[in-house]
Amino acid sequence: MRLKDKVILITGSGSGIGRSTALLFGEEGAKVIVNDLSEEKGEETAADIRAAGGEAVYYKADVTDPASVQPMVDGVIASFGHIDVLFNNAGISGIGALHEIEPEMWDKVVNVNVRGVYVPSKYVLPYMMERRSGSIINMSSCIAEIGLARRAVYAATKGAVLSLTKSMQVDYAPYNIRVNALLPGTIMTPFVENYLRTSYADPEEAINGLKSRQLSGEIGLPEDVAKAALFLASDESKFMMGSPLYIDGGVVFGKNA
Ligand code: NAP
Repeated sequence: MRLKDKVILITGSGSGIGRSTALLFGEEGAKVIVNDLSEEKGEETAADIRAAGGEAVYYKADVTDPASVQPMVDGVIASFGHIDVLFNNAGISGIGALHEIEPEMWDKVVNVNVRGVYVPSKYVLPYMMERRSGSIINMSSCIAEIGLARRAVYAATKGAVLSLTKSMQVDYAPYNIRVNALLPGTIMTPFVENYLRTSYADPEEAINGLKSRQLSGEIGLPEDVAKAALFLASDESKFMMGSPLYIDGGVVFGKNA
């Protein structure tokens, strides 16, 4: 019960890392606010948490759209009184070297991955500032540090999230609000499965290529990231501020090994 009675909003928690984190947080005693674009997937995550004995509600909202995020945040406050933790997890991929990316795709990825951190934070922060308490977890990626072939716009957005995290931390430290970032390596989720299916003639060979990049020799699981998010959401990380937390099988620091 490391999160007992904490009210935690997780964006994009109908799938992958967000879903896995929501399930773990539910087991750890949190009141989990599941957000996703997809009602079906979001409701399923919330129902699974409740079936396991936890507490969860689903809110449909597009993280890029203030008109849907603000009512979600206000609704959570009306029902639960406050928000202890915001996990800005929702994100999308964008494949291509810079010259291959159409402006529409550039804007879409920047919109979801960067504006999608700004908008929920903008509406949650005033409530955290009022209580002088809170933890925000922003989803970056190890690609922010090392780059990756044909991921120009994705890398740019995850670098932006890391920079934003540090700036947010400086601004909100006086309010006793911590802001940290997660930097996962390759994690096997629908996001990556879809990429492998659509980008490679032989997805199995591609998986072996991905594995060989890790010092661990393995691809990560959503649960690996969920456990790191649990640390950042809990008071156990109270001395961690404005920091990147790597969950990457050694990719960043082992790249020259
Ligand atoms: P995922 O399985 O695709 O889950 C992402 C979820 O976000 C989906 O349920 C998606 O809903 C939702 N979402 C997308 N746009 C949204 C929006 N505008 N508003 C609300 N929800 C939205 O992906 P994942 O692999 O778990 O990735 C989660 C986060 O981790 C992303 O930020 C990703 O960049 C980051 N990350 C992933 C990896 C990896 O290897 N998997 C590595 C590093 C970082 P729909 O499916 O309905 O669109």
